[in-house]
Amino acid sequence: KKVADRYLKREVLGEGTYGVVYKAIDTQMGQTVAIKKIRLGKQKEGVNFTALREIKLLKELKDPNIIELIDAFPHKGNLHLVFEFMETDLEAVIRDRNIFLSPGDIKSYLQMTLKGLAVCHKKWVLHRDMKPNNLLIGSNGQLKLADFGLARIFGSPDRRFTHQMLSIALVIHLFLNAEASVLLTVLNILQGSSDIDQLGKIFAAFGTPSPSQWPDMVYLPDYVEYQHVPAPPLRSLFPMASDDALDLLSKMFTYDPNARISVQQALEHRYFTSAPLPTVPEKLPRPA
Ligand code: ADP
Repeated sequence: KKVADRYLKREVLGEGTYGVVYKAIDTQMGQTVAIKKIRLGKQKEGVNFTALREIKLLKELKDPNIIELIDAFPHKGNLHLVFEFMETDLEAVIRDRNIFLSPGDIKSYLQMTLKGLAVCHKKWVLHRDMKPNNLLIGSNGQLKLADFGLARIFGSPDRRFTHQMLSIALVIHLFLNAEASVLLTVLNILQGSSDIDQLGKIFAAFGTPSPSQWPDMVYLPDYVEYQHVPAPPLRSLFPMASDDALDLLSKMFTYDPNARISVQQALEHRYFTSAPLPTVPEKLPRPA
């Protein structure tokens, strides 16, 4: 079945938040693509804006570690977003029991994730939905950030991000959950079944935030005083991690956003230049 003459629709790849994703052939370029069909309509006007925002963001974010938006067009009352086709995603890799990720492999995935994220942050874009199944992996092993449905430009460089708009739970979810999901070994420890469960897991692993580490937390709108639970030593959670890995981890899992390492600084961390070096993407293990 043809979509807008250029694309031949194949099977359904999955159901996303805003609609179905199809595999298709781009007859013009002779390549496989993924088409995200977004229902447009009067029922939910918000969806239009979300979609348009996604388009605008993706067009501005061109990078080897960010999914390429090839085309965008309306067709039969739906908005179609055409993306480069990606073979798998990081969640599938992590969950595959036949795949063993070496420290160099993990380093490589983390480096590619941070490189994509660095481009977002340079353009003042927050991804806001960082998780392993939004990190797509191409046939050459390249990892790319996808699904910017929730991303939003948060102002020009000289304007402060208004944390006040967010409750403490949301702040922690957005920042810590995001970075937690990036680190593969953390996945099992930190994956919660709901936001509250997630928070509980984060607090168990890293202790509860305290005003001594994060002075501004007391200004968060839903802040209430509570009994501080200290963090267990990181080493006890990750007995196999290298010292460099733990050092980077502790800097990324810092509650105070003003004290936390930036993505750019994280990329410059010794972890990425010390042995073992990041595995070249083509050599990363992939699902059979
Ligand atoms: P969600 O909104 O739930 O995060 P998406 O709408 O991004 O999900 O995608 C739904 C499903 O479609 C994904 O789980 C994935 O299997 C598939 N998919 C999305 N984008 C691509 C792509 N570029 N290449 C191949 N498959 C994709």
